[in-house]
Amino acid sequence: MFDLLIKGGQVVTPHTVAEMDVGIQGEKIVAVGWPGTLAAEAGRIIDARGKIVMPGGIEPHAHIGIPVPQQWTGLPEVMTQPPEAASRAAAFGGVTTIVDFAGDLSLRALEGGERSSIMQVLERRREVFRTHCYTDFTFHYILAGAVAPETVGEIGEAVQEGVASFKIFTTFHPIRVPYGHLWSIFAEVAKHGAIMAVHAEEDEIVRYMTEKLKREGRAQGYNLHLVHNNLSEDLAFRNIIRLAKHTGVAVYFVHTTAKEGVAAIAEARSQGQPVYGEALHNYLHFTCEDYKKPGGTAIHTYPALKYPEDRDALLAGLMDGRLATTATDEYTTYKKPKLWGDTIETVCGGHNGIETRLPVTYTKFVAERGMSLQRFVEITSTNAAKLLGLYPQKGVIQPGSDADLVLFDPHLKKTITLADLHADSDYSIWEGFECAGYPVMTILRGKVIVEHGKLVGSSSDGRWLKRRVAGDILARPAV
Ligand SMILES: [Zn+2]
Repeated sequence: MFDLLIKGGQVVTPHTVAEMDVGIQGEKIVAVGWPGTLAAEAGRIIDARGKIVMPGGIEPHAHIGIPVPQQWTGLPEVMTQPPEAASRAAAFGGVTTIVDFAGDLSLRALEGGERSSIMQVLERRREVFRTHCYTDFTFHYILAGAVAPETVGEIGEAVQEGVASFKIFTTFHPIRVPYGHLWSIFAEVAKHGAIMAVHAEEDEIVRYMTEKLKREGRAQGYNLHLVHNNLSEDLAFRNIIRLAKHTGVAVYFVHTTAKEGVAAIAEARSQGQPVYGEALHNYLHFTCEDYKKPGGTAIHTYPALKYPEDRDALLAGLMDGRLATTATDEYTTYKKPKLWGDTIETVCGGHNGIETRLPVTYTKFVAERGMSLQRFVEITSTNAAKLLGLYPQKGVIQPGSDADLVLFDPHLKKTITLADLHADSDYSIWEGFECAGYPVMTILRGKVIVEHGKLVGSSSDGRWLKRRVAGDILARPAV
């Protein structure tokens, strides 16, 4: 007898997409079988006929409950929405695992003053989410500035504790990590079997263009793509790829934004290098041409949205496997702070995206481009699980895996309105977007947390996840 039996849905597994039943005991999937072949007895039976049954979405890139720079809002104490709100929105959007960030970005630490250990920072960050999160959660660890050798020396211990990915920025003062320090970080991360998550922009190009546009009176926010531009992505991605080759580290490029970035990733992969790319769902729809519309910079996430041909390269890269994942760079504020800044130095990054990624991705790819459901699951769940060390606990429907499941209704056509969304926010860049299908039930480790349009989970359901990246991901382009 199962605790939960999901019957009659189109179940997406790595091997097949077919009408199957999924049996769950406690928090785990224990059986996947052809209709009628599993024991009929269950504590609860869910009729999934007409629905797609897929692994819970994994959000590989979120910034929850952190201070927003005053330079972007004009206000001293704006925070991105807290874990309760972000994970509530995630749950409604079919997301069961959130990968956020931990790191010491205090000026004190960045200026070489008193620093906390990686383990101290990690524990403080876990406290922010513990009992405040409807979904499971885990953190990339951000290394920022001229990282102290002592901190680099703690990477091994952090990997032992279950931190499998380290994030660095190649631009933005003072968090940018200089190349020498990057060299040492990459080598240490490679040695301990973790992966680098990289925000790659060529800092000198960014700074040069910022000054140039200011000088020429062209510093309006709608010119962000001229600052955070295609050349910058080309140079930065290639430098990072070379450094990764010399140190033997695997790289996950967060928010690939340009055709040059897609090409650099593809080239490295064709030479056998373990290099992977992420694309944000707003970059799959909007372009820099939308910046000029009224309130147009609401769509902005750093680096910057580029041209239609760049958007098309991202779409093609996700279709054909050059890119691996979709993400949102979730960064939710209200409209007023979001739209306060109107220059290339003050536009606020990010948006409330964590809830809309699955339906938007389904619409852009499965409905509009004929992507297979298996590939759709890869780019919304499985690949993130593999690259960030959560697989096969997460990201797959098979016996032994966590029973994180989403029932996705491909017949539910839905035009997104703000009233449908669950973030702590008062705007959505997706207002009016027509979804060709929508998640209707979310299950976290065997517990239904969203059904019939209601949140029935608890903010103490979410657990911190230990991660470990498999060897094949680190050795060669494995997804
Ligand atoms: Zn980000």
